[in-house]
Amino acid sequence: MARCLKLLLVSTPVGPLGSGLGGGVELTVVNLLTALTQRGHQVAIAAPESSHINSHINSHINGTQLIQIPGTLQPTAQTQGRDTPATMVDNAVLANQWNYAHRVQHSYDLIVNFAYDWLPLYLTSFFDVPIAHFISMGSLSWVMDRAISQVHDKFPGTLGAYTQTQVDTFPPGLTWQLLSSAIDLSQYDYCQTPGPELVWLGRISPEKGLEDAVAAAQRTQTPLKILGKLENPAYWDNIQRTYPNAPMEYLGFVNTQQLQATVRRCQGLLMTPRWVEAFGNVAIEALACGVPVVAYRRGGPAEIIDHGKTGWLVEPDSVDGLVASIQQLATINRYHCRQQAETEYSLPALGQRFENWFETIIENR
Ligand code: UDP
Repeated sequence: MARCLKLLLVSTPVGPLGSGLGGGVELTVVNLLTALTQRGHQVAIAAPESSHINSHINSHINGTQLIQIPGTLQPTAQTQGRDTPATMVDNAVLANQWNYAHRVQHSYDLIVNFAYDWLPLYLTSFFDVPIAHFISMGSLSWVMDRAISQVHDKFPGTLGAYTQTQVDTFPPGLTWQLLSSAIDLSQYDYCQTPGPELVWLGRISPEKGLEDAVAAAQRTQTPLKILGKLENPAYWDNIQRTYPNAPMEYLGFVNTQQLQATVRRCQGLLMTPRWVEAFGNVAIEALACGVPVVAYRRGGPAEIIDHGKTGWLVEPDSVDGLVASIQQLATINRYHCRQQAETEYSLPALGQRFENWFETIIENR
């Protein structure tokens, strides 16, 4: 490592860390904190009030500061249309986070933005300290596309993203740093002998396409465990009404320890997104447990899964395709799944990638 960096991570404003409202980016923020701290950097996080980082992770992080910022949560971009203007709610936690960041900026070498929102992009010009923008979803609105393009032109090299398929949804001609994702493998136990169940993980919200997983579970008469934040109750009610006899069980939103304890005993994870999933952290969490993934060939999962070796990629929106792949799950060697997680998605590699990106941004400033 070249030198110890002082870094401020400004977390997603749509939910406190540990709430699940922020989706996969919550895990990415916490994993990055761990990876960078392990590399000797000094890292603080400014996150919405009520944030918590689970005690297992906390115990091996020293000198970490979790700054709790009060205020009203930001609405999620994926539930709004392309024409939606930038939103600023009263006493917005997003504004409060960036007021805080502005006030303390000179204590840091670099600030990292995790909000999928116009405000931090716009504010970049008014900071003395460089800001790295980690964009956690694909293109969803014209406002964001323009703000991202403007930051790209004024502050080249400061845009980061998970995957190529994600950045392909944005206007062409932009340069991105592709950073992929990672997990703390020590938190996920490998399981060689699964039960008959399938599992589906994620926010229960229309863009995640849960109804297709339920339909496939019904067709194959395979029990399906569902874990995740109930973000859209009307959507969930509708699924229950449509499939009253599906062999499914909703287990609520659980922490990483409980999540892996359930996932690892399942024969496969189903991923059925309707949108271009920027990454899909749940895919690598399943692989780390030795659980193969059946996913639509769309967005991040299509870049992660090694078709025929660590899971099956299915024609998007085809329940028939899901059914056929579920019937082939037993042909996957679960050890290859764990191996893929170990070789491609380790925390040290993530820390190294982000550190290189940050060093380049600081040097270019
Ligand atoms: N998750 C969790 N508890 C649950 C279900 C899911 O902590 O009961 C987490 C999971 O670990 C993952 C996130 O929710 O980090 C979902 O992220 P993903 O990248 O798959 O999708 P996103 O929500 O960002 O679209």
